[in-house]
Amino acid sequence: MADPVTLSCPRCRKPLQERPLGPADLFMCAACEGLWVDMQTWGHIKTHAEDFAPLLSGPSAGDPPSEPVRYVPCPACQSLMNRTNFAQRSGVIIDYCKEHGTWFDADELRRVVEYIRVNGPEPARTRASESVEARRAAARGSAGLSMPSADSDSSWGLLGFELLVDAFGLLLDLL
Ligand SMILES: [Zn+2]
Ligand SMILES: [Zn+2]
Repeated sequence: MADPVTLSCPRCRKPLQERPLGPADLFMCAACEGLWVDMQTWGHIKTHAEDFAPLLSGPSAGDPPSEPVRYVPCPACQSLMNRTNFAQRSGVIIDYCKEHGTWFDADELRRVVEYIRVNGPEPARTRASESVEARRAAARGSAGLSMPSADSDSSWGLLGFELLVDAFGLLLDLL
Protein backbone atom coordinates (compact mmCIF):
# COMPACT_ATOMS: atom_id res chain seq x y z
CA MET A 1 0.00 0.00 0.00
CA ALA A 2 1.41 3.34 -1.00
CA ASP A 3 2.09 5.90 1.65
CA PRO A 4 0.00 9.03 1.50
CA VAL A 5 1.81 11.80 -0.31
CA THR A 6 4.66 12.92 1.88
CA LEU A 7 4.49 16.58 2.69
CA SER A 8 7.76 18.29 3.29
CA CYS A 9 8.58 21.41 5.26
CA PRO A 10 8.70 24.43 2.94
CA ARG A 11 11.66 25.79 4.89
CA CYS A 12 13.73 22.77 5.92
CA ARG A 13 12.51 20.30 3.28
CA LYS A 14 12.21 17.68 6.01
CA PRO A 15 9.16 15.41 5.87
CA LEU A 16 6.28 16.74 7.94
CA GLN A 17 4.86 14.53 10.64
CA GLU A 18 1.22 14.20 11.56
CA ARG A 19 0.51 16.09 14.70
CA PRO A 20 -3.00 15.79 16.12
CA LEU A 21 -4.34 18.88 17.80
CA GLY A 22 -7.59 18.12 19.56
CA PRO A 23 -9.94 16.90 16.84
CA ALA A 24 -7.75 18.30 14.05
CA ASP A 25 -4.83 16.75 12.22
CA LEU A 26 -1.96 19.09 11.53
CA PHE A 27 1.45 18.39 10.05
CA MET A 28 4.50 19.57 11.85
CA CYS A 29 8.16 19.94 11.02
CA ALA A 30 10.22 18.53 13.87
CA ALA A 31 13.14 20.75 12.95
CA CYS A 32 11.58 24.22 12.82
CA GLU A 33 8.23 23.55 14.54
CA GLY A 34 6.37 24.99 11.57
CA LEU A 35 2.86 23.69 11.06
CA TRP A 36 0.97 22.87 7.89
CA VAL A 37 -2.80 23.12 8.14
CA ASP A 38 -4.94 22.04 5.20
CA MET A 39 -7.90 24.13 4.06
CA GLN A 40 -10.59 22.10 5.75
CA THR A 41 -8.76 21.89 9.04
CA TRP A 42 -7.95 25.58 8.96
CA GLY A 43 -11.61 26.41 8.43
CA HIS A 44 -12.41 24.30 11.45
CA ILE A 45 -9.74 25.92 13.62
CA LYS A 46 -10.85 29.42 12.63
CA THR A 47 -14.42 28.76 13.67
CA HIS A 48 -13.41 27.02 16.89
CA ALA A 49 -10.58 29.27 18.02
CA GLU A 50 -11.87 29.12 21.58
CA ASP A 51 -11.34 25.38 21.67
CA PHE A 52 -7.94 25.42 20.04
CA ALA A 53 -6.35 28.29 21.91
CA PRO A 54 -5.69 26.23 25.07
CA LEU A 55 -4.19 23.39 23.02
CA LEU A 56 -1.44 25.54 21.63
CA SER A 57 1.43 26.09 23.97
CA GLY A 58 3.33 29.31 24.31
CA PRO A 59 6.54 30.04 22.50
CA SER A 60 9.39 27.68 23.16
CA ALA A 61 12.52 29.13 24.70
CA GLY A 62 14.34 31.63 22.57
CA ASP A 63 13.15 33.96 19.90
CA PRO A 64 11.89 32.48 16.69
CA PRO A 65 14.52 32.81 14.00
CA SER A 66 14.04 36.10 12.21
CA GLU A 67 14.20 34.93 8.66
CA PRO A 68 14.39 37.37 5.80
CA VAL A 69 11.12 37.61 3.88
CA ARG A 70 11.10 34.69 1.54
CA TYR A 71 8.39 33.02 -0.46
CA VAL A 72 8.22 29.33 0.28
CA PRO A 73 6.60 26.50 -1.68
CA CYS A 74 3.31 24.85 -0.79
CA PRO A 75 4.07 21.44 0.74
CA ALA A 76 1.32 19.90 -1.39
CA CYS A 77 1.83 21.40 -4.87
CA GLN A 78 5.23 23.12 -4.56
CA SER A 79 4.03 26.37 -6.06
CA LEU A 80 5.13 29.43 -4.14
CA MET A 81 2.66 30.43 -1.48
CA ASN A 82 1.21 33.87 -0.93
CA ARG A 83 2.14 35.84 2.15
CA THR A 84 -0.43 37.80 4.05
CA ASN A 85 -0.81 39.68 7.29
CA PHE A 86 -3.53 37.53 8.81
CA ALA A 87 -6.83 39.44 9.05
CA GLN A 88 -4.89 42.43 7.69
CA ARG A 89 -3.87 43.72 11.09
CA SER A 90 -2.90 40.79 13.28
CA GLY A 91 0.80 41.35 12.59
CA VAL A 92 1.23 37.64 11.93
CA ILE A 93 2.48 37.00 8.42
CA ILE A 94 1.29 33.64 7.20
CA ASP A 95 2.00 31.78 3.99
CA TYR A 96 -0.89 30.16 2.21
CA CYS A 97 -1.72 28.22 -0.91
CA LYS A 98 -5.18 29.01 -2.22
CA GLU A 99 -5.60 25.39 -3.19
CA HIS A 100 -4.18 23.47 -0.29
CA GLY A 101 -3.76 25.18 3.01
CA THR A 102 -1.78 27.46 5.27
CA TRP A 103 1.75 27.28 6.62
CA PHE A 104 2.48 28.60 10.10
CA ASP A 105 6.02 29.10 11.23
CA ALA A 106 6.79 28.20 14.82
CA ASP A 107 4.34 29.91 17.16
CA GLU A 108 2.39 31.63 14.37
CA LEU A 109 -0.60 29.33 14.68
CA ARG A 110 -0.84 30.06 18.37
CA ARG A 111 -0.68 33.80 17.73
CA VAL A 112 -3.28 33.64 14.97
CA VAL A 113 -5.65 31.50 17.04
CA GLU A 114 -5.21 33.90 19.92
CA TYR A 115 -5.94 36.81 17.60
CA ILE A 116 -9.10 35.11 16.32
CA ARG A 117 -10.22 34.32 19.84
CA VAL A 118 -10.01 38.00 20.74
CA ASN A 119 -11.01 39.67 17.48
CA GLY A 120 -13.03 37.11 15.53
CA PRO A 121 -11.99 35.38 12.33
CA GLU A 122 -12.72 38.12 9.81
CA PRO A 123 -10.78 41.29 9.10
CA ALA A 124 -12.15 44.39 10.76
CA ARG A 125 -14.92 45.77 8.63
CA THR A 126 -13.22 48.59 6.83
CA ARG A 127 -14.62 47.71 3.43
CA ALA A 128 -17.90 49.59 3.78
CA SER A 129 -16.24 52.90 4.53
CA GLU A 130 -13.66 52.28 1.83
CA SER A 131 -16.34 51.80 -0.78
CA VAL A 132 -18.14 54.95 0.35
CA GLU A 133 -14.88 56.80 -0.08
CA ALA A 134 -14.43 55.23 -3.50
CA ARG A 135 -17.91 56.25 -4.53
CA ARG A 136 -17.32 59.79 -3.35
CA ALA A 137 -14.09 59.94 -5.28
CA ALA A 138 -15.85 58.61 -8.37
CA ALA A 139 -18.61 61.16 -7.97
CA ARG A 140 -16.05 63.94 -7.67
CA GLY A 141 -14.27 62.62 -10.74
CA SER A 142 -17.34 62.44 -12.94
CA ALA A 143 -18.57 65.83 -11.76
CA GLY A 144 -15.27 67.27 -12.83
CA LEU A 145 -15.49 65.59 -16.21
CA SER A 146 -19.02 66.72 -17.00
CA MET A 147 -18.30 70.29 -16.02
CA PRO A 148 -18.23 72.26 -19.28
CA SER A 149 -14.89 73.87 -19.74
CA ALA A 150 -14.75 77.58 -20.48
CA ASP A 151 -13.93 77.19 -24.16
CA SER A 152 -16.47 74.46 -24.94
CA ASP A 153 -19.08 75.23 -27.60
CA SER A 154 -21.80 77.15 -25.81
CA SER A 155 -24.51 76.04 -28.25
CA TRP A 156 -23.81 72.47 -27.24
CA GLY A 157 -24.27 73.49 -23.64
CA LEU A 158 -27.59 75.09 -24.53
CA LEU A 159 -28.67 72.04 -26.48
CA GLY A 160 -27.85 69.89 -23.52
CA PHE A 161 -29.96 72.13 -21.34
CA GLU A 162 -32.91 71.91 -23.74
CA LEU A 163 -32.67 68.17 -23.87
CA LEU A 164 -32.68 68.13 -20.14
CA VAL A 165 -35.78 70.30 -20.03
CA ASP A 166 -37.48 68.02 -22.58
CA ALA A 167 -36.61 65.00 -20.56
CA PHE A 168 -37.90 66.66 -17.45
CA GLY A 169 -41.15 67.55 -19.19
CA LEU A 170 -41.49 63.98 -20.36
CA LEU A 171 -40.96 62.82 -16.84
CA LEU A 172 -43.67 65.17 -15.60
CA ASP A 173 -46.03 63.85 -18.29
CA LEU A 174 -45.35 60.36 -17.14
CA LEU A 175 -46.18 61.31 -13.60
ZN1 LIG B 1 11.03 22.94 8.99
ZN1 LIG C 1 -0.63 24.08 -2.99
